[in-house]
Amino acid sequence: MKGFHERTFVDDALEVLLKRVKPISRETVRLSGAFGRVLGEDVTSMYDNPPFDRSAMDGYAVKGENTFSASGTNPIYFTLVGEVTTGIKPDIEIGDFEAVKIMTGGPIPKGADAVVMFEYTNELNGGGEGEGADEGYGGEIEVLKAVTPGKNVSFKGEDVKKGDLLLRTGRVIRPHDIGIISTVGMTGVGVFKKPKVAVISTGDELLVPSEELTSGKIYDSNSYTISSLVLKNGAVPVRVGIIKDDYERLKSAISDALGYDVVILSGATSVGKKDVIPQVVSELGEILVHGVSMRPGEPTGFGIIKDTPVFMLPGYPVATIFGFETFVRPALQKMQGMRIKSPYPRVKAVLRRKIPSELGRRDYVRVKLIEEKGECFIEPIRTSGSGIISSLVRANGFVVVPENTEGLEKGKTVDVNLL
Ligand code: AMP
Ligand code: MG
Repeated sequence: MKGFHERTFVDDALEVLLKRVKPISRETVRLSGAFGRVLGEDVTSMYDNPPFDRSAMDGYAVKGENTFSASGTNPIYFTLVGEVTTGIKPDIEIGDFEAVKIMTGGPIPKGADAVVMFEYTNELNGGGEGEGADEGYGGEIEVLKAVTPGKNVSFKGEDVKKGDLLLRTGRVIRPHDIGIISTVGMTGVGVFKKPKVAVISTGDELLVPSEELTSGKIYDSNSYTISSLVLKNGAVPVRVGIIKDDYERLKSAISDALGYDVVILSGATSVGKKDVIPQVVSELGEILVHGVSMRPGEPTGFGIIKDTPVFMLPGYPVATIFGFETFVRPALQKMQGMRIKSPYPRVKAVLRRKIPSELGRRDYVRVKLIEEKGECFIEPIRTSGSGIISSLVRANGFVVVPENTEGLEKGKTVDVNLL
């Protein structure tokens, strides 16, 4: 590990972290609870869908070739020999110039290979209702349009074939995915467990928002922001509370939190007199990285204590958020078997002002994206210290200035991550 004053590059730090983060165990959930969960298994179809050839329209099942010369001026006559509705397998076989009345979703009877829609037919007599509906249907229809074999038939396995790989492990389950899982008759599905995440704020100055604001104190905001980010990433936050800047208390709070899958601390990660977290973490386990070449968020760090990833996020609210986005979010994604991917959609826009930066450091710059006459522009937010949480509230995006540049020039087109 590099010392705190020799900052580690973000990508190097991330690589070190992800090597040590292991996927969490899995569980089976019922389909009603599967939406938004992360698939923990490949889903393969055990059935064909549709499971049989079925009609895609309301109409008459016929042999397509018998209709070839049919038209409005040249109707072709068919004998009606039965009726098929949905849910019942027909025990009928049709011959040449015979038709069976069929509803959408009804199984195509033997001998038929196409369906003429009701709209292109006329029923002349009989019609299959009442007396004699079973035998001697007797009625006749005229067909006014040709249908090629296969027309208006949805064939067995057309949607999904038995053995098809439908969904891959690691996918965040969408509503339509639940549709396909139930289509193939599954009642439950394997998913990754939701990581349980302990969230701890540290600092003698912190109050819970219900307390009276007294001199020298501020309200804890990080534990609420971090908990929301944890939720956003599919995990379950547990706010442990505020712990004072006291070595022993912090040590016992962190030890107690090791029952969770992840521990996130904020505050006390720098090199001030009260910044004892790195010391506590290194005593209980191993620090992997402390001090990252990013701004905001330079004092960010993380370690492993008894197999539990422990994140040390800086106290400044904006730094905490970018520390989370840079390291905690990818770790939570890896734990849940997901692809490691930014959740922010990206658009291109033109810089209205120069964004200065330091070579060798990654900067996260809060910006306002403005649309004018169909073109997108970016205004960097002026008041942007890492303690200024309102800068993120006013921003609708952020721009990443990579390590290999000293800033981004006015007029340049850059990627904006939309918040
Ligand atoms: P620290 O990283 O502990 O030195 O804190 C840096 C700054 O962030 C200080 O001004 C703290 O008061 C502030 N801060 C620390 N923790 C929190 C928190 N949980 N909520 C809001 N501000 C905080
Ligand atoms: Mg502090």
